[in-house]
Amino acid sequence: MKIVLASANKGKIEEFKKLLPNDEVVAFSDILGKMEIDEDKDTFKGNAIKKAQTIYDELIKKGLDVVVISDDSGISVPVLGNSPGVYSARYAGFNASDKENNEKLKYELNNLRLEKTPAFYTACIAIVYKQEVYTVHGWMYGEVLNIEKGTNGFGYDPMFIPSGFDKTLGELSDEVKKEFSHRSRALKLAKKVLDVIL
Ligand code: IMP
Repeated sequence: MKIVLASANKGKIEEFKKLLPNDEVVAFSDILGKMEIDEDKDTFKGNAIKKAQTIYDELIKKGLDVVVISDDSGISVPVLGNSPGVYSARYAGFNASDKENNEKLKYELNNLRLEKTPAFYTACIAIVYKQEVYTVHGWMYGEVLNIEKGTNGFGYDPMFIPSGFDKTLGELSDEVKKEFSHRSRALKLAKKVLDVIL
C-alpha cells in the first residue's frame, strides 16, 4: 500500500520506512515538492492533524486519494515544565538544528545543576483517509542527560536513556530503539486503524 508521509524530517522518514517495511512509504515532498506547514497548535495531536490534513487536501486537489500519515513528536522534561514538548523541533529557535536544540537543553539542565532528570518522548500519529481523521499516541519514558553520548538516531537521542537501559539512544542501535520507541508504539496502534479502514 502507498502511504504518504506528511513530514520533511529525514530522521523520521527513515524511521517510518523501517517501521513499515511492507508498505511503500513516500515523503510528501516527492509528490508535492517543498511546502512549509506552520505547526502552530499547542498539542502534538493538533499539529499532527494539521500536517496530515494539509497534505491530504493538496493531494486530493491533484486527484490522488491516498492514505496520509503524519507524526508530531517531541521530548518533555517535567523539571522544565514539560519543555520543550511541542516546541522540540524549534527549542533553540525557528529552523534550529538538532545540535542547537541539544545545546539549549544542556544549557537548561546545567542551569539547574542537573546531570540527568526524568524525561519522556511523545508521538501522535494522525491518519487521514477518505476525509476521515484518526489519531493515536505512543510514549517512551527515561532520563535525559546534560551531555551527548553516541551518534545513532536523531534529535535528542544522544541525550536520552530509555528506562531499563544504561546507554543513550545515540549509543543503542536503531533496531533496539524500534522495539519500544514512542513512534513504534504509536505506529503499532496506527497499523490497527489502517487494518480496519483500508
Ligand atoms: P516535529 O517534526 O515537529 O514532530 O518535530 C519533532 C522534534 O522532536 C524533532 O525535531 C526532534 O527534535 C524531536 N524528536 C521527536 N522524536 C524524536 C526521536 O525519536 N528522537 C529524537 N528526537 C526526537
